[in-house]
Amino acid sequence: MAVTAKEERLPFSKSVEHMVDRAMHYLNIPQGLAQQIKACNIVFQTQFPVRMDNGEYKTFRGWRAVHSAHRLPVKGGIRFATHVHQDEVEALAALMTYKCAIVNVPFGGSKGGLIVNPRDHSEAELERITRRFAYELIKGGYISPGGNVPAPDMGTGEREMAWIADTYMSMYPNDVNALGCVTGKPVSTGGIQGRTEATGRGVQYAIREFFRHPEDMKLAGLSGTLAGKRIVVQGLGNVGYHAAKFLQEEDDCKIISIIEWDGALVDENGLNVQAVRDYMDEHRGVKGFLGAKYVENGLSCLELECDILIPAALEGQITLENVDRIKTNLIVEAANGPTTFGADEKLRQRGVVVLADAFANAGGVTVSYFEWIKNLSHIRFGRMQRRLEEWRGEKVVEALELMTGQKMPDYLKNDISRGADELALVRSGLDDTMRQAYQEISEVFHSSKGITDFRTAAFVVSLQKIAESYLEFGIWP
Ligand code: NAD
Repeated sequence: MAVTAKEERLPFSKSVEHMVDRAMHYLNIPQGLAQQIKACNIVFQTQFPVRMDNGEYKTFRGWRAVHSAHRLPVKGGIRFATHVHQDEVEALAALMTYKCAIVNVPFGGSKGGLIVNPRDHSEAELERITRRFAYELIKGGYISPGGNVPAPDMGTGEREMAWIADTYMSMYPNDVNALGCVTGKPVSTGGIQGRTEATGRGVQYAIREFFRHPEDMKLAGLSGTLAGKRIVVQGLGNVGYHAAKFLQEEDDCKIISIIEWDGALVDENGLNVQAVRDYMDEHRGVKGFLGAKYVENGLSCLELECDILIPAALEGQITLENVDRIKTNLIVEAANGPTTFGADEKLRQRGVVVLADAFANAGGVTVSYFEWIKNLSHIRFGRMQRRLEEWRGEKVVEALELMTGQKMPDYLKNDISRGADELALVRSGLDDTMRQAYQEISEVFHSSKGITDFRTAAFVVSLQKIAESYLEFGIWP
């Protein structure tokens, strides 16, 4: 498909739609159904006033889009940012639909956004803003455990999710499943171990699985293990920080550049991710961090030669303007929509491997799914079987020692006799999910005639499942 400058200025939702159309081409979905799958079903807009600390009133505008309710509840984060707009929310809701299908999470797709810069407000103001937005969404039927379940996204975290849950509980005090109205809550308030790290952890698991497929690695000109691979990360927020930290600390990768809103840090020997994050927590940006080269034009560091490029900040970062200067052969989209349709076409032509957002950052929604199940079942994962597993493990050790007449080393004894706790179970479930999804995508990529990129393969996997779901349930009435 030829790309013109006009196409490059496509709204985000059109960019996603074009990528989906590319995949539709390889499927036999009736045209009317294809239209229904792509369309955003509902967009709710609300405007409301909130009293500021100084007594004045400020008006806020927000949206909740429901892209597809072919599975319920619909699921998707709530974003707090100044650049939020309706088209962005619709595009992100669509990505949620496709993402859930890719990783076999039985939810439809939704997304919310509020125009606000959290940094401009005190905690008390943010709480009033969040609670009032939640109230508007709940009143409109856009938050409930069985219908629409938000989660954190850019600018929101577990604090905001707890406020939303509390607002819902105050409106529906008798709903026994109320905690399931939102995920990403603090563990002490109905959350789940491992949710905060989940999206970054999922990025790590996706990359690890890619490295278990030598034929796919070859396409990106890569060989060997992850150890020593040179990585550039854009955005050291929730997703970027966890992905970079795990890849550095557990897989021995070198994070050679971290790009943030106020510039980038570069160190060919590898940056210490935790040290940069600690610095950012104190100074809000990376400028002034000692021990690494500072580059004022952070965006230019996307163009550094590296093994893996991980955009984990905003949409629309790899565009027709800079795509020809991108030197990596493997891009892992931790952010939503970091590559425009036009740039994506060029990357495809060049054979750059892109693990698309709808797959690569699906760890968050996967663990949100686990949290929702935990809320509905009212029991922590592992509570019933952990001690039983521990007891069985001890018996195995005892039997082995008895039969061999030898003492088992402590490290082995501990490994065998440890019962799985919630965090271990969540990580295992997430790893399994990312691996299975990757294998489905890779299989479609290798077995379908004409598909030359992993993004199209991922959308084919997703669309097939969504179409099946529509056709099997039938369309009412
Ligand atoms: P976040 O707000 O925690 O982090 C975003 C980071 O990007 C911040 O450190 C911010 O300073 C930085 N940033 C902002 N503008 C930048 C710029 N111009 N250049 C470089 N860095 C910049 O958000 P997050 O939750 O980590 O989300 C990041 C991306 O991942 C978003 O696209 C989001 O939709 C996507 N995502 C998040 C989750 C999740 O669970 N949080 C799940 C799936 C996808």
